[in-house]
Amino acid sequence: MLSIKVWRRVLDLDARTVIEGVGFDEDSEVVMVRVRRRRPMKQRCGRCGVRAPGYDQGAGRRRWRALDAGTVQVWLEADSPRVNCAEHGVVVAQVPWARHDAGHTRAFDDTVAWLVTQASKTATAELLRVAWRTVGSIIARVVADIDGQVDRLAGLRRIGIDEISYKRGHRYLTVVVDHDTGRLVWAAPGRDAATLDGFFERLGHERCAQIRQVSADAADWITRSVASHCPNAEQAADPFHIVKWASEALDEVRRHAWNAARQAHQLPRDRRARQNRQHRAHPIKRARYALWKNPENLTVRQAAQLDWIARTQPELHRAYLLKEGLRFVFKLGGQAGKDALDRWISWARRCRIPAFVVLQRRIVRHRQAIEVALDTGLSQGLIESTNTKIRLLTRLAFGFKNPQALIALAMLALGGYRPDLPGRP
Ligand SMILES: [Zn+2]
Repeated sequence: MLSIKVWRRVLDLDARTVIEGVGFDEDSEVVMVRVRRRRPMKQRCGRCGVRAPGYDQGAGRRRWRALDAGTVQVWLEADSPRVNCAEHGVVVAQVPWARHDAGHTRAFDDTVAWLVTQASKTATAELLRVAWRTVGSIIARVVADIDGQVDRLAGLRRIGIDEISYKRGHRYLTVVVDHDTGRLVWAAPGRDAATLDGFFERLGHERCAQIRQVSADAADWITRSVASHCPNAEQAADPFHIVKWASEALDEVRRHAWNAARQAHQLPRDRRARQNRQHRAHPIKRARYALWKNPENLTVRQAAQLDWIARTQPELHRAYLLKEGLRFVFKLGGQAGKDALDRWISWARRCRIPAFVVLQRRIVRHRQAIEVALDTGLSQGLIESTNTKIRLLTRLAFGFKNPQALIALAMLALGGYRPDLPGRP
């Protein structure tokens, strides 16, 4: 067996831990490392770390999974006595190598927390040989640990509020991002005023009063909750959401065009003729991404699809121009943006495309919040980085059932604080 000194380095154990012995357990085929605290007489509470008198021997010997050594698993084994904490009562004493109530060492936890933001959940679980459920409880523990050390809500001035759907759109999280740091600062299950009220209550009166600007998707419940908690905040419509409304309207027009092209005639019996007909409708279907994308990002092929639409589908093309026109309003910003918005509204009012006439009314209803966005506008860079994060979050949310695990993962990935990989400062 390697010397104790080498094992200390391999396991990243500091001077507070004594290695009593190392052996290979033939039955379970793992390396078992017997350890103890350096000063067993001076115990600390596992929850708060304050010194506390010993209580009893607890459940006796206990094991913690450590990082693998090469291809074999390594476990630590130690006594786990209990102490009587003045505040927390009888609890298991603190150990230097693991978080409270953990079945894995600190180094193992931190590795999981790092990996889970970099790789798929399958890759994380298989590489580290843990169940996905275990990964969930590890990241919850790591995030709780970080939350105990940092104040995510400090210094908030400009925030963005959004809702994220998960579980195939059946469940929602309300999320709050800091526009100045780009960090996700808060998330909770639900999407209603009561949920958001929870955030402002946590923030407290004083800090609520320091919020200057709130961007959101113009949902009424957000508007209401912000108005009642943040007396000094201007509410701005989030340009990203407004442009998204236009993209949705455009998609409606595209679907109409596609259905009309399909149903223009009964499908002919002849197979070849039928294929021809379907072939003719296809470009509309395929042009979906060309219509969605910003023109400056179009591929040559998508530009050609757009060109084809301009020639053969005048209404769809006008809808496309309306969507781009609205995007341009936000690109201009300021007074120029407001002037452009005026022109856009009168254009959309007369466009005779039902989806855009409806959108035009919606825009007029939210005009004030849109003008705030144009006037005091958050820079496009901030909006973009926030929305990139929101999109990433939506991707993370896929496949998650438990909101707490999802929130913990989101906080790790987007909250700005993450443990270092052990041994790599
Ligand atoms: Zn305590």
